[in-house]
Amino acid sequence: MKYVYFFGAGKAEGDGEMKEVLGGKGAGLAEMTRIGLPVPSGFTITTECCDYYLKHNLKYPSSLLVEVKKNVARLEKVTKKKLGDAKDPLLVSVRSGSARSMPGMMETILNLGLNSKSVEGLALKTKNDRFAWDAYRRFVQMYSSVVIGLPKEELEEKLRDMKARRGVKDDTQVPADGWRELVSAYKDYFKSKTGKEFPEDPQEQLWGAIGAVFSSWNAEKAVTYRRVERITGLLGTAVNVVQMVFGNNGDNSGTGVCFTRDPSTGEKTFYGDFLINAQGEDVVAGIRTPMHLTEMASRMPKVYKQLEKVRQLLEKHYRDMQDMEFTVEDGTLYMLQTRVGKRTPTATFKMAVDMAKEGLISKEEAIERIKPEDIDRLFYPIVDPSTPKADLAKRQLASGINAVPGAAFGKAVFSAEEAEHLVQKGEKVILVRRETSPEDVGGMFVAQGILTATGGKTSHAAVVARGWGKCCIVGCEQLDIDYATKIAHANGKSFREGDWITLDGNDGIVYSGQVKLITPELPESFSTLMKWADSIRKLHVRTNADTPHDAQKALEMGAEGIGLVRTEHMFFKDFEFPEKSIERQLAIQEMIIADSSVARKRALDKLLPYQRRDFIGIFKVMDGLPVTIRLIDPPLHEFVPHDPEKQKELADKIGVDVEVITRRVEQLHEANPMLGHRGCRLAITYPEILEMQVRAIIEAAVDCQKNGIKVIPEIMIPLVMDRKELQILTDRTNQVAQEVLKEAKVKLHYMVGTMIEIPRAALLADEIAEVAEFFSFGTNDLTQMGMGLSRDDAGRFLPEYVDEKKAGIFADDPFQTLDIHGVGLLIRWAIERGRSVRPKLEIGICGEHGGDAPSVKFCHEVGMDYVSASPFRVPIARLAAAQAVIEERKAKKAKGKKKGK
Ligand code: PEP
Ligand code: MG
Repeated sequence: MKYVYFFGAGKAEGDGEMKEVLGGKGAGLAEMTRIGLPVPSGFTITTECCDYYLKHNLKYPSSLLVEVKKNVARLEKVTKKKLGDAKDPLLVSVRSGSARSMPGMMETILNLGLNSKSVEGLALKTKNDRFAWDAYRRFVQMYSSVVIGLPKEELEEKLRDMKARRGVKDDTQVPADGWRELVSAYKDYFKSKTGKEFPEDPQEQLWGAIGAVFSSWNAEKAVTYRRVERITGLLGTAVNVVQMVFGNNGDNSGTGVCFTRDPSTGEKTFYGDFLINAQGEDVVAGIRTPMHLTEMASRMPKVYKQLEKVRQLLEKHYRDMQDMEFTVEDGTLYMLQTRVGKRTPTATFKMAVDMAKEGLISKEEAIERIKPEDIDRLFYPIVDPSTPKADLAKRQLASGINAVPGAAFGKAVFSAEEAEHLVQKGEKVILVRRETSPEDVGGMFVAQGILTATGGKTSHAAVVARGWGKCCIVGCEQLDIDYATKIAHANGKSFREGDWITLDGNDGIVYSGQVKLITPELPESFSTLMKWADSIRKLHVRTNADTPHDAQKALEMGAEGIGLVRTEHMFFKDFEFPEKSIERQLAIQEMIIADSSVARKRALDKLLPYQRRDFIGIFKVMDGLPVTIRLIDPPLHEFVPHDPEKQKELADKIGVDVEVITRRVEQLHEANPMLGHRGCRLAITYPEILEMQVRAIIEAAVDCQKNGIKVIPEIMIPLVMDRKELQILTDRTNQVAQEVLKEAKVKLHYMVGTMIEIPRAALLADEIAEVAEFFSFGTNDLTQMGMGLSRDDAGRFLPEYVDEKKAGIFADDPFQTLDIHGVGLLIRWAIERGRSVRPKLEIGICGEHGGDAPSVKFCHEVGMDYVSASPFRVPIARLAAAQAVIEERKAKKAKGKKKGK
């Protein structure tokens, strides 16, 4: 196997396509060499070699020694210099570079090849003693910390001591002697720590550096970065050994970083920074203030012109914005690196649309370039990126699961009631709970953000907050909340009710105090690109919305109907007239406490007008679009108070003994409520509930139709597991609906269908489809029951399952991204069986996965008609649905090509 690829003198063994093997940097250097750009010569040791090294107990493949030797000789020939030479030495940099950019995560060693002889050679050649010794001390410092692992801080201290002794402040004021003295101090330190002399032999230096770069692949920070950025499946890092060019060799030299377009606005302007008389890291380190490229244009017009040409060539060549590093050595330009540049979400959209309009890329490519996170970050406030990292670190209280993106601050409150109370007084609050339940929706609604100690991405808090696009962190296990004293402890810190806290829902971090937030502006290019996506996609995109307000928001986001109205969310909150919420709560609680069918009906009659009004509101907003309304779903215990005080209050309000309430609440207790008396099982035992809800839906539809609104109601029965069960409820639904229509003398088309969220229903989908007019996959429950993972409690251990560094059993949280491998099989099966009985069966998904890009792609692949996502995730679903079509076309084309061969 070939482990080393050479580039230099206009030729390269590798090319830009070989990122996996040469890493991004190595592939870029090879490609730039090939297309004739000025690139220093060198060679790349492959990621495959890194993989071998790490898997074989830090041993190199046997052929590597010879290959490296051969390539060093080649490099010496091309550069006409020799490593360690006492007159004109070759110096190299040894840099990491994997297939995916991991900025600053792995190691680099510069000026390798310097020793006590060659440093004099460098001084002689450059006629700059100070420069040579500065280069040497940098090398000894880097080598000691990176290769040997000596503490950086102690090395820095020696530098500070030397400067203090000489009475100088800046590095630039240190004379050659100072650097000489420091090299000697470093070497002594090196010997005292390792018992050995600092290596003089360039070969020994080189092998030490290669090993250190390879090993840095598994350094803590690199592993964490890959986990956070979800970088998986890479072999390791490559090692690039490249001839050093010096930007710090006088005023005709310098170094810079530039972008082919502005990475923050996306404008097509040449953007970058340049430092005269400086070496690579100085620009990034920010010690000196660099000049803008326009200034460089006047200081070094010839080099600038050349750089501008490189800019155009590279962007055309790579068909994307490039982030380039360059060095000018004595008036000669060298390109050191090019890669696809990182950009803000606004710039992402602008560049994609502009490049498609310029004809540089196709519209399909423009769509492919957008990531779901780019959309997320367009709509939500974020922590101001200019906030100093140290400040954030100081403020960090705890971290949890980033359930809903965005950021928010407010005063911490530990109960929904207190949240409502404070907000009424004009305060901003963050609701902090161990977990939330429907009882809390009022407080959740008014809060700026929600933080829970338990739960995962489909827990109650996460689902509800997502619906409102409200920043939410769940599963913050370090948080110990004491409701009695109103103090929360985490990691040795604490906060009380009323203290300001900030949630960063993007990273799942809780900070103390008010961190500065910013909201990006929605760029024009966003709507252009989304229009392009809409013209390509086949899947329809609906929304999960429970109120007219949310439905309206979803329409603005491009929803084409509602895929799920969770009716129970209306039981606790009157979103139109908040002061009436209490009446609804009492009615539902009275219904639950009732001990006879007659008493239940009496209570339900009170609820009916509220539900009807809610539905009218939603139908009005969704004029002409389908609205899927689900009948009551959660277990009844979620609607009754559990603490004695509130039970007493309820007893007084509805005029019963408190014992009646206590007994009923005890009766409703279930060991496993998620598998208990919930969903359509409630309608089987309490048909009055179904009757009230169906009546409210159909009466609302009739009312709207009479007023010229086009209603397309779809009544959805949750948690079905058996055909007969569904048949009984469908019959009852039709009976009530027909009664209402007959009374109103109106004809109206409506559908009755089911959710598929119990594995048994998926397996018996052909039987179910004989009754159901539509299927909607409730993948939250289907995941819970298909994988045997509690939606509410799995947050405690699931992160270990997903963490590559820990168990790494799953690549993603299955409550966020559909477990295509397992749960996906149930879905495929159910669709196939369902459509075998009813070929035109309408099929959609309304679990949280409907707003997750990879899951949406799966929904397209298995032939669903629509996905349904919370309003703020509708654009992500639209985009992913278009990307699915593009990927499918590409795969087909590739298959055709293969066949053709
Ligand atoms: C589901 O289970 O996927 C679903 C949409 O229902 P809920 O989340 O309300 O249980
Ligand atoms: Mg469900």
